[in-house]
Amino acid sequence: MEDRLKALKEVAQEYPICDECIGRLFPDMEGKNNRERGKKVREMLELPESKECYFCRGIFNRLEEIARSLDPHPYLFETFILGTHLDRELIQREEMLLERVGVVEGIESLKKNINRELGKKIQEIHGKRYDPENPDMEIIFRTENERFELHPKPLYLYGRYRKYSPMPQSKWPCRYCKGRGCPRCDYTGRQWKETVEYYVADVLLALTMGEETKLHAAGREDIDARMLGNGRPFVIEITRPRRRRIDLELAREEINRHGGGKIEVLCLLPSSRREARELKSTPLDKVYVAHVRCKGGVKGEELEKLRSLEGAVITQRTPSRILHRRSDRVRKRKVKKLSWRLTGTHTFDLVIEAEHGLYIKELVSGDDGRTSPSVSEILGKDCFVEGLDVVEVRGGRTCWDG
Ligand SMILES: [Zn+2]
Ligand SMILES: [Zn+2]
Repeated sequence: MEDRLKALKEVAQEYPICDECIGRLFPDMEGKNNRERGKKVREMLELPESKECYFCRGIFNRLEEIARSLDPHPYLFETFILGTHLDRELIQREEMLLERVGVVEGIESLKKNINRELGKKIQEIHGKRYDPENPDMEIIFRTENERFELHPKPLYLYGRYRKYSPMPQSKWPCRYCKGRGCPRCDYTGRQWKETVEYYVADVLLALTMGEETKLHAAGREDIDARMLGNGRPFVIEITRPRRRRIDLELAREEINRHGGGKIEVLCLLPSSRREARELKSTPLDKVYVAHVRCKGGVKGEELEKLRSLEGAVITQRTPSRILHRRSDRVRKRKVKKLSWRLTGTHTFDLVIEAEHGLYIKELVSGDDGRTSPSVSEILGKDCFVEGLDVVEVRGGRTCWDG
């Protein structure tokens, strides 16, 4: 202690140093904070009080003024986390100070010290709450110009959607302009004018004034398949939202109005990055209704043969319709449950409960033998899917408690 005090005295005779910076070096000294400990040390050494400081550039004496210069505009937020970015010069000065005075256990870094003290002032002056667990905003303080940068955290919302009309799930930017807008897309920037994501995003971006959206869904149905029943779970991520506290029920109603009967969102709830990740990585089982047509007609008693598909493991090579974008592989998936209902002389509905990843259209058609067994193979006639509905997606949060 004696040596360190002596070394400090020498430093203080060469460079101005504030109480906060002195106190930081003596965690073993009594006192409830750095400032108090610093004052005690300074008085012991009979040094004059200094507002100027070579080591923090006087930041600790200007905390109030600096915190006031933070302009939260255009963002509305309640909680924040603060990170300080030290410039090269201050880092070197801190290194020199520690080298001369010597390091003991418990010495705080300048960076941490600024984060804490400036964070307190920001709370006080702006009425925001410091929350390292779940901050709305990441504030970066840069010492080189003593300015703040605002990095709003994305907003995550959970929902389940139904889709009644053919359209892709995710946004699909124009392939010529990559979404900027050009004559070929009528300046919409969209290859497909309608997708589930666009309907949801249009409303949420307007309400939150965010920058863009990313849709994280639990799988996807074919463009021409309907999504019915309890809907498909999704999390939509909105980047750089200016407003975060929106009325989710009103937003949901607005989305459904905008969807005009083509899509519908069954609920909209607060969510998280973690839920988005979970949804994308956990495959969910589904129940489908396939509207099937068979060439040459079909009779009720024939359909009894389909019983053999229940519990069967289906071997599928990559469907020929997607071979252009996927490699040719073999997958095995189980049909868990199967039932049917005759709907005409050539048509019937097939209700299939399947393991995730089973290609339903090919389960029916057989895809020229690439899928086996198949409905066509068992019935001995060419059958195909005229329309496909997903009627249940198992998993994800339900929209109604209980
Ligand atoms: Zn200082
Ligand atoms: Zn375009």
